[in-house]
This record gives sequence, C-alpha cells and structure tokens, in this order.
Amino acid sequence: MAGRNHLFIPGPTNTPHSVLSAMHLPMEDHRSPIFPKLLKPILEDLKKVFGTETGQCFIFPATGTAGWEVALTNCLNPGDKVLIYRIGQFAHLWIEMAKKLGFDVEVHEIEWGKGIPVDHLEARLKQDTQHEIKAVLATYNETSTGVTTDIPGIRNALDAANHPALLFVDGVSAIASIKFDMDAWGVDGTISGSQKGFMLPAGLAILAFSAKALKASETAKCPRGFLSLQDQINSNKDGYTPYTASSPMLHGLRASLDLLFEEGLENVYARHHRLAEGVRRAVAAWGLKICAVPGVESDTVTAILVPEDKDAREVISTAYNKYNISLGAGLAQLSGKVFRIGHIGDMNDVSLLGAIAGVEMALLDNGIAIQPGSGVAAAIEYYRTTA
Ligand SMILES: *Cc1c(COP(=O)(O)O)cnc(C)c1O
Repeated sequence: MAGRNHLFIPGPTNTPHSVLSAMHLPMEDHRSPIFPKLLKPILEDLKKVFGTETGQCFIFPATGTAGWEVALTNCLNPGDKVLIYRIGQFAHLWIEMAKKLGFDVEVHEIEWGKGIPVDHLEARLKQDTQHEIKAVLATYNETSTGVTTDIPGIRNALDAANHPALLFVDGVSAIASIKFDMDAWGVDGTISGSQKGFMLPAGLAILAFSAKALKASETAKCPRGFLSLQDQINSNKDGYTPYTASSPMLHGLRASLDLLFEEGLENVYARHHRLAEGVRRAVAAWGLKICAVPGVESDTVTAILVPEDKDAREVISTAYNKYNISLGAGLAQLSGKVFRIGHIGDMNDVSLLGAIAGVEMALLDNGIAIQPGSGVAAAIEYYRTTA
C-alpha cells in the first residue's frame, strides 16, 4: 500500500526523525575513554524527566517488564508481602510476575476502567499495624484501560497510615508524556521503557529509585543476577555499564531527551492533555463510550468501547488492512470490546486527526452507526480553538 503505516498504538510510538538519525551510526567501543561523556549526562538528565533530585536513574538493556523485576528483586526479601490492585492487564502481568518470583501477593480486584481506590488502600494500610506489607505496587497509567491513577493520593494513603512500605510505580506509558514528580510524590521506584514516551524502539528499561529504595537494596536478600542495581551503581559511577551497552539506543535517548527539554516538559504534558481531549470529544460526538470512568481518563491512550453487538477486533482489522493505520487491541477481558487510540509521544493535531478519520471509516465499514465526520468535526473545532 502506498504511503506510510500510521502508528496509533500506545507503544511502540512514532520515532521522530532526529532520534532515528541519531541512532544511525557505526558501533562504538563502550569501554572507550569518551563513552562516559555519553552515559553520564543521560543518567543526570533522566532525573529531570522522573522529577527526582535525590533519587538515581538506571538503564537496563531490556524492556519495561524487566523494570518490574528490578524493583521487586532488588529491594525486597524472599516471600515479602506486596499489595497491588488488578486494575487492568498491565497490573495483572505485574501480579503474575510477583507470584512467579515467590512473593506473597495481596491482590485486590477492581473493575477495569477504574483507578486504584485510595480510600480503600488507606483503610487497608491502617489495618496492617504489624507492617507486613513491604511494598505497594501501582500502575500509574494503565495502558489496557486508558486509566490514570492518583499517585499523590496513594502517597497520602501511606502517610495517613504512617506506613513504611515502599511505593513502586509502573510509569511505562506515562513517563515523559504526563506529569510525574517522583520526589514530591514520595515514589520509591519508577519503571519506564524506551518505546513509549521516550519515542525510541523497545530495548531499554529506564528506571529511577529513591534513596530509601537503594538503602533497602543494600540488605535485601532476593537473588538477582543480570538485573542487579548494585552492578549498575558500581559501573555507572565512572560512566560505564556492567555489560555491553546499546550505544545506538543511548544516542537515540540523548536525542529524545534533547527534544523533550527543547519543548519543555510542562509543554509536553500540556500537549498530551490537549491531544487526548480532542480524541475524547471525537468519541463523544460518535456517541460511543470510553472504558475509563469520568475523572481518570488517560492523556496517553484512550480505550473506546464498541456497541455490545459489535466486535472491536473487526474495526482494528479494517483500520489496518483497508486504511493502513494501526490501533491498539483490547487486551484480555477487553478483547473484542475495545479498540485503543494511542496518543503518546511524537504526535500533533493533524497526525491524530488522521487516526480519528481512519477510525470513522473503519467504524462505518463495520456497521457502527456514527455520523460521518462528527468525530473529526468535534476534534478540529477543539484543536483549532485551543491551538
Ligand atoms: C508497555 C507497558 C508495559 C510493558 O512494557 P514492555 O516494554 O512491553 O515490557 C508495562 N506497563 C505498562 C503500563 C505498559 O504500558
């Protein structure tokens, strides 16, 4: 098919030209005297993106999933109790990993489309007077449902209960695209990956840990090998890595950080909010509903429900095969019920209008009775008047 495939999935996201070109270079000696000039400033600059001055950033040649494991195995002891709400598929996968690693996982079931209930959490933590819960795991932006959870609210719940548990946050589809303030929000471990807000290919787990988490890691007894924070600390101190670094990815990350700082993080967050709002207005104009309940809608991904007698997989398939656009699928219990529009990373009004127009055609082709042009009209009116 002529023209390009348009990527509107919530990761991998579109990679900007400057990032692509920065990665196109000959391989380098990762033990050379100049390598630290690349790595050290990246690790420092990442702190700004995570909103931490007192914490430390880490890069593992892996994906976000490995980041979950880094947090669990470096900071906890075997069999420790961890608390987590199953708010969607990514929370579910973190739960499954924690179980496989032998932790005592206290799971609370939540209807998909809602965030973590901070009042419930506060009550539960107050009950835990023996402080058996060693960590609270929270998915900040649940990519499967398009829900953003109130992380400061979780911090408040921990503080109100005067509970010492570590707070680990999955920010894979949030960091570098929606507001995150690790120090102010009292987060101990934040997990991200290269292929979402950082606009890179998949391949780097990008993480930040607080002083409290790093202190815990000094005595924590869970076995860890490749994913050891201490090995990273020892090598990073001099600007090196414990094993071969993916230098093209690091050059790409440098270019991505430069773009983020050039736009300004606050502007990046505002852009994501504005783009997301246009999509929400389009969905409302179609007369469709989104999976997220009011008040927790994500600014990086929108999960849109199709009418009950329709199959969202057909919409996604038409969009791809006939119009060459990639939409996100419904995951697990949402399969066939939702399709997702990713509006994260390198995105602007007109590119997103392409997604909205393509979705309209795919909806109409599948007999979903929307008014042609209604979503596009709602979005253009919003974008035009807020630009
Ligand atoms: C994409 C994603 C992950 C998984 O990341 P991988 O890089 O695929 O391992 C984890 N959590 C959330 C919220 C995500 O969106």
